[in-house]
Amino acid sequence: TSFGFRTVPVEEKQGLVNRVFDNVASRYDVMNDAMSGGLHRLWKDAMVAWLGAPRRPARPYRVVDVAGGTGDIAFRIAKGIEVNGEITVCDINPEMLLVGAGRNAKRIRPTTPCRFVAANAETMPLPTGSQDVYTIAFGIRNVTRRQTALEEAYRVLKRGGRFMCLEFSHVDIPVMDRIYDRYSFEMIPRMGQLIAGDSESYRYLVESIRMFPNPGRFAAEIEKAGFSQVQVRKLTGGVAAIHSAYKI
Ligand code: SAM
Repeated sequence: TSFGFRTVPVEEKQGLVNRVFDNVASRYDVMNDAMSGGLHRLWKDAMVAWLGAPRRPARPYRVVDVAGGTGDIAFRIAKGIEVNGEITVCDINPEMLLVGAGRNAKRIRPTTPCRFVAANAETMPLPTGSQDVYTIAFGIRNVTRRQTALEEAYRVLKRGGRFMCLEFSHVDIPVMDRIYDRYSFEMIPRMGQLIAGDSESYRYLVESIRMFPNPGRFAAEIEKAGFSQVQVRKLTGGVAAIHSAYKI
């Protein structure tokens, strides 16, 4: 494309991603609001609403939120469960987990425990068939071996378990796609420079969004990992999308 993607070799990608989040961890939540204009909150609400976790499950209801970072998804799901909820937040970056654990300690009347575990989405320290739900928000794009991570998601889920992924997608509305391109390639690195003193990392993140497959291709990858009933919901004209699937 005219923006000239740099291809990042597989062995360098995770290191680059880790540096981005090391650098931004303490400002991550502020950056998210600034760069998405608060939209990420609505998208996260939409995923958690679509999940529709039971308020009072009869048996322990186990959720793993992968690439869970500072806990946005975990805390939203936790809020809706009154008894028997158990949430594990997995993230490869200890700095991000530290911010999440700090927020966890400040939760008001938490009925659902959230634990924070440092782990790679490609190899999680969770028993096979142990989880009711696997969520990942704005995380799968950063994983080096996406297919391996999807297979790992399938492994840790119970039969009947639900996979849900929130990720940036592709705007396919005329004019809006132009505006979105300009915003992401010009504004985002500038804001990264202003708020975090780092434009290069944000340029990488924007490029990684462009390289992420469209919903059709991503759905095929989810099915290849073994999942069934893949469904997609587009958000904000395709800026983001939620994929839902089941292990049956
Ligand atoms: N889910 C949170 C949210 O929506 O606010 C955080 C998303 S943040 C954009 C991406 C997260 O993915 C970072 O916390 C990063 O450390 C994590 N991450 C990157 N590569 C990972 C990997 N291979 N395994 C697990 N987590 C990873």
